Amino acid sequence: MGKILVTGGLGYIGCHTTVELLGKGIEVVVVDNLSNTTIDVKNRIEKIAGKSFPFYEIDVCNTEKLKEVFASENITGIIHFAAFKAVGESVENPILYYRNNIEGLISLLECVKEYNVPNIVFSSSCTVYGDTKESPITEEHPIVQAISPYGTTKIVGEQILFDFANVSSTKVVSLRYFNPVGAHSSSLIGELPIGIPNNLIPYVTQTAAGIREKLTIFGNDYNTPDGTNIRDFIHVVDLAKAHVKAIDFADNHSFKVEVFNLGTGKGTSVSEVVDTFEKVNSLSLNHIYGPRRAGDVEQIWADATKANEILGWKAEISLEEMLRTAWDWQQTLKD
Ligand code: UDP
Repeated sequence: MGKILVTGGLGYIGCHTTVELLGKGIEVVVVDNLSNTTIDVKNRIEKIAGKSFPFYEIDVCNTEKLKEVFASENITGIIHFAAFKAVGESVENPILYYRNNIEGLISLLECVKEYNVPNIVFSSSCTVYGDTKESPITEEHPIVQAISPYGTTKIVGEQILFDFANVSSTKVVSLRYFNPVGAHSSSLIGELPIGIPNNLIPYVTQTAAGIREKLTIFGNDYNTPDGTNIRDFIHVVDLAKAHVKAIDFADNHSFKVEVFNLGTGKGTSVSEVVDTFEKVNSLSLNHIYGPRRAGDVEQIWADATKANEILGWKAEISLEEMLRTAWDWQQTLKD
């Protein structure tokens, strides 16, 4: 295996994946435009891994600059994280999302084409399944119209990659994430939400830290056992490990396109998350029940059998550990 290019390698999932790749002795090159992270994350990754790696502060949309990386590094695989990910923001500003996420992917594929890169792993999402009632959900479930422009960038991104794989020798692995949460056990890296968090766990930890007054649980009148939404929360380190398996799989198998769900296979309700967070961290969380949030799917969790059987990967970290590491990480942040 040559070098693996990790785009967005200083972001939340990217930094945990970079740590896992380095830990396996794989050479890594990181490209990140620092739009949603800081350069300090590089030092933290290096501290955990005990190794350094080349870093380029480049926007993946800048094809000319990106090509220079391919010209100077022997890239044999790519894990493409670099993209915007805030669902609400994508509704407010769809053009920004289409430009960044779609143009970034196309720019990267121009390089892949020119430099004949054999493998690419793509960050996709269970949002491609839309408002489904079918859980556990398999990769066979039809792709439907997305609920947000962010979701559309994942559906279109996959399609662009599949079309590209069809006419090139590049192998594509698309990983559909469920709900990544938690932080590295060292508490050196974790999620760095900017502004008011949209996602549940950062909102929970910021409320526990006193940064937010209270958590509002969006709806308790759903058709679920406790009335709150059900999600498949997966520890970010488990998710990171799946990327190492995916790149290794692509390196050693012959195929054009493979798609994998990455979840634990277990659904947990929002209320259960709050209860477990309180219990494992011995604190009480100020929370109320509010109206439903527009666009929320009632319940969704993964059937991750395919990743288990083909990649030899299984999520191992418990919900308790997800919520403990999330809180440990929050406590290292100043505000
Ligand atoms: N959620 C909530 N309050 C919040 C943020 C999220 O009740 O302040 C709920 C949300 O309605 C959903 C679940 O937590 O049911 C997970 O939401 P998140 O935004 O983290 O991820 P999503 O599943 O929407 O991708």
